[in-house]
Amino acid sequence: MTPLVAREVWPQNKVLKGIPASPGIIIGPAYVIGDKNKVHISQTYLATFDQVTLEIERFRDAVMHTRQEITTIKNSITDEFQEHAYILDTHLLILQDKLLYDETIRLIQQEKINAEWALQQAVKKAQALFNKIADPYIKSRILDVEDVSERVLRHLTGGNPFNLGNLSDPVIVVTHDLSPVDTTQMSVDKVQGFITETGGKTSHTAIMAQSLEIPAIVALEKATQEIDTGYTLILDGLNGTVVINPDPKMLDIYLQRKKKFEDFKYDVGKSSFLPAITLDEHQTQVLANIEFQEEVDLALDYGADGIGLYRTEFLYLRQQQLPTEEELFEDYQTVAKMMSPNRVTIRTLDIGGDKFASHLEYAPGINPAMGLRAIRFCLKEQTIFRTQLRAILRASVFGQVRLMFPLISGIQEVTAAKRILEDIKAELRREGHDFNQDIPVGLMIEVPSAVMLADLLAKEADFFSIGTNDLIQYALAIDRGNKYVAHMYQPLHPAVLRMIKQVVDAGHAAGITVAVCGEMAGDPLYTPVLLGLGVDELSMNALAIPVVKRIVRHASMEEAQDFARQALQHGTVNEVNAYVNGVMAKRFPEVFMFGRELASAA
Ligand code: PEP
Ligand code: MG
Repeated sequence: MTPLVAREVWPQNKVLKGIPASPGIIIGPAYVIGDKNKVHISQTYLATFDQVTLEIERFRDAVMHTRQEITTIKNSITDEFQEHAYILDTHLLILQDKLLYDETIRLIQQEKINAEWALQQAVKKAQALFNKIADPYIKSRILDVEDVSERVLRHLTGGNPFNLGNLSDPVIVVTHDLSPVDTTQMSVDKVQGFITETGGKTSHTAIMAQSLEIPAIVALEKATQEIDTGYTLILDGLNGTVVINPDPKMLDIYLQRKKKFEDFKYDVGKSSFLPAITLDEHQTQVLANIEFQEEVDLALDYGADGIGLYRTEFLYLRQQQLPTEEELFEDYQTVAKMMSPNRVTIRTLDIGGDKFASHLEYAPGINPAMGLRAIRFCLKEQTIFRTQLRAILRASVFGQVRLMFPLISGIQEVTAAKRILEDIKAELRREGHDFNQDIPVGLMIEVPSAVMLADLLAKEADFFSIGTNDLIQYALAIDRGNKYVAHMYQPLHPAVLRMIKQVVDAGHAAGITVAVCGEMAGDPLYTPVLLGLGVDELSMNALAIPVVKRIVRHASMEEAQDFARQALQHGTVNEVNAYVNGVMAKRFPEVFMFGRELASAA
């Protein structure tokens, strides 16, 4: 590749910071793609009825060409990207979504504006809508809407598509943004890493980089201005650092860091399919959390002992109408079969809170986290609940399916939910359906009142799973989506540790297992403390499984219990943090150095 030298004096050792999106360290030449042939558009008014009609035709034409283009890409997709082909199906659906398609036509008609401008306005509206969503994954799906509309715009303006498929040398791609479709077209052997100015940890681009194991950094502002093609870059996807044109000393530091990381990764990979047993033979389970059926492969690849939490909201959020019993049944049955003989814990719908479906016609209220969500919503909207329960029960014969109710705050909710479950069982029996009559029923402990009642709730449950994401939010009165109090969201808060201990003790006294399935379970920093508190199972983002398993296999239950006992002695969160960090840095130095980044990539 010919370097396009744009500056007289090259910067040296200049450090830029972005958000780490895919772990790994890579050193190589930069290949900068300006603003990705961004389409620039302006507004024009349409004076006559005929012009409006023609403009709508032009828009429909562009959509049709975009559909053909996406379909062609989909049909030519190579093997490494097959598992991501669903993104292209999503893009085909977005193309005909009301939000984009109908809204653009409406704007052309009513505002009498050109198609490009109307489409841009429709996208802005969609952006405003998505902005209100707290769930970072769903929120970041606006990137798909933007990508699809960019493609339509290119067809409207006659611009060229962007292609990463014909690179001749290995490079680190630096660009404003990289859509999933761009990514599926790139030559994997040539793109060693990428840096984008936009995007977040949960963008498809980041997720794909992780599954292709290509180091990546996102949200590095002005990257395309600071970096020129031909510069040598160190891309540290573990901490989001880019070093421009490193001198030999800097290069040496990073080469050593790279070697250490790769040795660690190899070591971690080795233990991911081994059982999670401590040095003193205490057996635990390390499970995966999933939100979509497509993630089961990832869970299997990373050595999950089962699915500890299947969040089932996605099927309700991704379409404009409620999913049918058959759709749900198909989905649950597939997941159960894929994981069999390992188990799958299906959590019933946790809609409301930060996950709102516009078609369900409930206003979020001023305090949605404390509003009509999860089990409360299901007990109110029993038709929706019953449909889901029927689907789960019917799927239960295809694997080891367990059922779990979210956001339980007291006994009455459990009694009501179980009564409905029994009712559905009777109904299915009458209809002659096969299902597991003794399907295990678990409760999520994520409200402080449930902690206080854990001894009573344990008598009503086959297992507990502590949802620390919500438990921390409600126990410490910290909105989990509010950036101003994010620093107060502290898993090692003494109150949180005591609550976990109380739930574990109550569960064990009643002879049931206690899992943790919030984000805390997947952070290797907390693994020994949770083990020591007596937690039986940890369920997490699949990528965290190997690191967490490695800690379990390198720790003894005796030391973990001692560790937890000491941690419980401290009265302030700062003291607990200092204690846990101090011990972990000494006891598991490599995990401390790289493990958290490796575990939290997704
Ligand atoms: C939790 O609250 O910890 C949990 C696992 O559930 P969610 O994050 O889906 O609310
Ligand atoms: Mg929760």
